[in-house]
Amino acid sequence: MSQVVQTKMDGDVAVVIVDNPPVNALKHEVRAGILDAVQAASGDPNVKAIVIAAAGRTFIAGADITEFGKPPKAPSLIDVIAALDEVKKPLIAAMHGTPLGGGLEITLACHFRLAAPNTRLGLPEIKLGLMPGAGGTQRLPRLAGIEKALDMILSGNPIPAKDALAVGLVDEIVEGDLVAGAVAFARKVVAEKRPLRRVRDMEEKLAAFRADPAKFDEVAARLGKRSRGLDAPKAAIEAVRWTLDVPIDEALKRERDTFLRLTLSDQSKAQRHVFFAEREAAKIPGLPENVKPREIRKAAVIGAGTMGGGIAMNFANAGIPVTLVETSEEALARGFATITKNYQATVQRGGLRQEDVDKRLALFTRTTSLDAVADADIVIEAVFEEMDIKKKVFTELDRIAKAGAVLATNTSYLDVNAIAQITKRPEEVLGMHFFSPANVMKLLEIVRGKATASDVLATAMAVGRKIGKMPVVVGVCHGFVGNRMLAPRQVQAERMLLEGAFPRDVDAAATEFGFPMGPFAMGDLAGLDISWRIRRARGTRAEIADALCEAGHFGQKTGKGFYIYEPGSRTPQHNPEVDGIIVAASKRLGFQRRTIDKQEIIERLVFSMINEGARILDEGIASRPGDIDVIWVYGYGWPVWRGGPMYYADQVGLPYIRDQLRLHAARSGDASLEPSAYLSKLADEGRGFSALADAAKRSA
Ligand code: NAD
Repeated sequence: MSQVVQTKMDGDVAVVIVDNPPVNALKHEVRAGILDAVQAASGDPNVKAIVIAAAGRTFIAGADITEFGKPPKAPSLIDVIAALDEVKKPLIAAMHGTPLGGGLEITLACHFRLAAPNTRLGLPEIKLGLMPGAGGTQRLPRLAGIEKALDMILSGNPIPAKDALAVGLVDEIVEGDLVAGAVAFARKVVAEKRPLRRVRDMEEKLAAFRADPAKFDEVAARLGKRSRGLDAPKAAIEAVRWTLDVPIDEALKRERDTFLRLTLSDQSKAQRHVFFAEREAAKIPGLPENVKPREIRKAAVIGAGTMGGGIAMNFANAGIPVTLVETSEEALARGFATITKNYQATVQRGGLRQEDVDKRLALFTRTTSLDAVADADIVIEAVFEEMDIKKKVFTELDRIAKAGAVLATNTSYLDVNAIAQITKRPEEVLGMHFFSPANVMKLLEIVRGKATASDVLATAMAVGRKIGKMPVVVGVCHGFVGNRMLAPRQVQAERMLLEGAFPRDVDAAATEFGFPMGPFAMGDLAGLDISWRIRRARGTRAEIADALCEAGHFGQKTGKGFYIYEPGSRTPQHNPEVDGIIVAASKRLGFQRRTIDKQEIIERLVFSMINEGARILDEGIASRPGDIDVIWVYGYGWPVWRGGPMYYADQVGLPYIRDQLRLHAARSGDASLEPSAYLSKLADEGRGFSALADAAKRSA
């Protein structure tokens, strides 16, 4: 008998239990076990009904993705599901936890589906650049309707049991003991001789769309609009469309073929890389295994400006009381008004109920006295980006904060070690670098200072996850990982304007590559004055951006920047006046303007980042290339289907990148484009960044 699937008899009901910890993934033994158990029960005259359930914390949570790309081993999930479809006795799925992907597809071949109250059901394949491949695209629309099915398949997001009940995906929610409830349900079905309908035979919910196929296009266009550049959503829409006019057996065959094609696609490989890199990022090299995060019951945030307000919201959203400190009542009121306004907007969009917002707002304590942070377990400083002010705040914090409190700074560029050293407890200080808007953006760079204690680091990681962020550990340097790599890209973008390009050329190349926005549209959105102020403080210049700022053009907020904006509009429009400023700057600095083609633009933007990424790895500022990839996907809109900059570099090949960097450096006369020693070394040795990742794994 199978180790991972067992059958227990409860009177005349066979209960097939999958037990493959931690998440009952559908590895080969599980598939074979389910097939054997169900066939045995099906052929056993003493069995009147069959329940499929799972042990542990969840029903089957999906395929075993480590099997992807390996030769398939029979029975495939398709074989299992085809066999379930033939069962003539009541077949009932009893779900808890997260029935996902192939796990949910198994239940779609049962006659009935029951769920525990907290169950979350979904088809997340799209997040790995795939689509459901074992009937999901054909059975879910038949059960839950085309619109709900498309929504679930295209978003990949799970839905709660009560929503599943409302759309017909679940027949009943079982309170209390799930398996006992399922057995009782099975007996009822037998006693009442309820008809056993296979989902594949249900056609009612397709009727409206069959009568009006244009409706399908409208729904698909609306739900698919966030999937620019991605192949899988396009394929998934096509597959769901087959429910309208392709016989189901043919559609299932096509679905399988498409799924297999997608598993071999570059996009899916890249997305799977990011998926694994995210999980790797949670492991911190050099951290003792038994280190325990400190408990965080109360938080405090200093500064209620752009960042502080959003950071504080994260804590309230996670149910953690948070004290918000400002310098004056006015600043405090302004900051809190923004927080309230943000919540109100969410209520209006239907994202939260008013009573939830009230609960969250009640978790805030507002004060102008720093003494109020004395009982906080974690304090995050988000005051102005000036070292003197930060040092003053941390000196005070050192005096006020309780022993054992974690003291974090949200600085973007400043030296976290210098900030730590101003206190008598540098081991409790680190950076927690959030991204704007801080209540929305998932990325969180956790900046490990040279004195930061292990458990302080572990605490910051745990808190980051608790408040719904994607924390990645980085080391101390100017700009850490994300902003440090952004800098050379920015330099190239500006430099290409001087050499002959215009903002729209550079932005068009960047969006074509897959970034949601080009660097200049981005600059206009963020405000050009911020980096202008930083450059002035550091005594550096960016010829064109500075000229714009000197003319009072700070971007969207002033209606003019690299582009011009109609009042109330965020759409960048060509501004001939800026072309004039650019051409004049080229002339002033002695550049002979030339046409720069798209390939050169993309290579200079992206390869310069990769070059910096190599330095970051060489210096140990990031521990793994995958960490850099996660940072760029989560914090800067790097197209996930290109897997992050370091993964992309390996696909392009380091020797090519090295040679092109040399070529662009020579042609443009910009020495900053020269390949870094480390990149050249890896290229010379014929190694890629992924080899470093493997080495890091071996030594961990
Ligand atoms: P901001 O100017 O919007 O807000 C700073 C707030 O701090 C102001 O409201 C100010 O009144 C308050 N403040 C100043 N001194 C204080 C003190 N001693 N005690 C209490 N409050 C004080 O600035 P911001 O954009 O929120 O940036 C804050 C920090 O976050 C900076 O270090 C910045 O580099 C960093 N950061 C900013 C961004 C961004 O995109 N804006 C992103 C990541 C990190």
